[in-house]
Amino acid sequence: MFYQVSNLFTFAPMNQDDLFKKVIAHAKEYGFIFPSSEIYDGMAAIYDYGQNGAELKKNIRDYWWKAMVQMHENIVGIDAAIFMHPTTWKASGHVDAFNDPLIDNKDSKKRYRADVLLEDYAEKLRQKADKEISKAAKRFGESFDEQMYRETNPRVKGYLEEANATLQRMAQSLDKGDLEDVKALIEEKGIADPVSGSKNWTEVRQFNLMFGTRMGSVAEGSSEVYLRPETAQGIFVNFLNVQKTGRMKVPFGIAQTGKAFRNEIVARQFIFRMREFEQMEMQFFVRPGEEMKWYEYWKEQRLKWHKALGLDEKYYRFHDHEKLAHYANAAADIEFDFPFGFKELEGIHSRTDYDLKRHEEYSGKKLQYFDPEIDESYVPYVVETSIGLDRMFLAILSAAYKEEKLDDGSERTVLQIPPALAPVKVAVLPLLKKDGLPEIAREILADLQMDFPCQYDEKDAIGKRYRRHDAIGTPLCITVDHDTKNDQSVTVRFRDSMQQQRLPIKELAGLLRKDLEMSTLLQKLK
Ligand code: ATP
Repeated sequence: MFYQVSNLFTFAPMNQDDLFKKVIAHAKEYGFIFPSSEIYDGMAAIYDYGQNGAELKKNIRDYWWKAMVQMHENIVGIDAAIFMHPTTWKASGHVDAFNDPLIDNKDSKKRYRADVLLEDYAEKLRQKADKEISKAAKRFGESFDEQMYRETNPRVKGYLEEANATLQRMAQSLDKGDLEDVKALIEEKGIADPVSGSKNWTEVRQFNLMFGTRMGSVAEGSSEVYLRPETAQGIFVNFLNVQKTGRMKVPFGIAQTGKAFRNEIVARQFIFRMREFEQMEMQFFVRPGEEMKWYEYWKEQRLKWHKALGLDEKYYRFHDHEKLAHYANAAADIEFDFPFGFKELEGIHSRTDYDLKRHEEYSGKKLQYFDPEIDESYVPYVVETSIGLDRMFLAILSAAYKEEKLDDGSERTVLQIPPALAPVKVAVLPLLKKDGLPEIAREILADLQMDFPCQYDEKDAIGKRYRRHDAIGTPLCITVDHDTKNDQSVTVRFRDSMQQQRLPIKELAGLLRKDLEMSTLLQKLK
């Protein structure tokens, strides 16, 4: 009901830079996201969620938790501490290798990730190839063979080969720790500072992304600890605790949502790249040798989870990693078409037995599972799904933001948030502030608010109230008018189509349940 496109209005086209700016401004104006400690001028890459943002974020988290934990008999959830024993991060490799290669521009004094500059360069080449391909597709019409064109057209081949060669050389140099070559590559490709256009670069240096602090009351007795840079390690160190106490049988999963902290070098993309953010991760423990089957399974399941939201399918694509981390034997990202282009939203990684084995080595404790079916003990292999909650929030917000010109010439801004995730599900509006209408509206509210987040709103003309709720993505507005007193019915107005329907009050709860509950999404995952 909510996704039907009405012929009442037309969509105004918007350039992507404008869209991103508008989404950021809208998020602040309507209580979704504020810069942190704004009265002190804020902090780079740290944000606070406001009244509507906190609800939307909670709903996305719930959707993930229900889909992963509640819907799977063999997945359980935990909530591990942010601080972990410092040896954890030695074992996981973060102390030695959780680095990003950074480079500064001497003229603009701006700092960049060298790998991101090169990845963006390769992406531009791919976009050029895509442009050539779509031009050719138009030219040739039905007879166009895209695969053939990709493989034979010299210009397209040239773009794609150069993109691949650049990424391959970067990956090899980073693997070898040859940072001089990374800089040489940036110079050879003529990559300029995207802000100033300058090509005057410093050397490339490695920078560890973990935030350290000290634990303990006296300086001499305190020890250095880290704010966790990922939630996954809290799952690995609890692998045996959960397996034993939950009597879990391989294959099984442990899920967790929670804060992670990274001292990101480049922090200029709103909540896409934050220094404090939230992850939703699941580690799936499998029998060695079966990991590729589960890797494919989780790739498919996770994409299904995204698509169940009903946003246009064109927003998603898989990106298989060419360069694998040393512990992984397969890895892919689900990328989302953010207003600044396709970027990683979620990672699905086959992490082998690396993490558990390293923890065995550093802790001296066995982290093995006895598999009664094959009468053997082993360290399980792991397939991980890892998604940033804040990135997911940004994906939804930017896809949901629409400016529409209505047939009567007026305009509206509407957030077409999937109804089950909307911060406010229902607005109850008495047409007038008198004649007993507020009392009836409050009765309806009292009934509905036990099940759904609702808002009561009696201020301003009804049209203005509708616009206010369009702007925060409220899927349904219920208007109580004078007829309500006689016919016990109300007008229900739908956010996306703006159509109105007269419904008996006693049918409201049923309607809401059908369209707004999380189960509408979960059903699509079966
Ligand atoms: P990127 O390459 O964009 O830095 P990553 O590959 O380091 O990301 P992972 O370590 O795989 O990311 O983390 C898993 C997920 O956590 C990512 O897919 C992303 O959604 C989220 N994430 C990672 N870093 C950040 C961050 N700084 N801010 C917000 N979300 C993040």
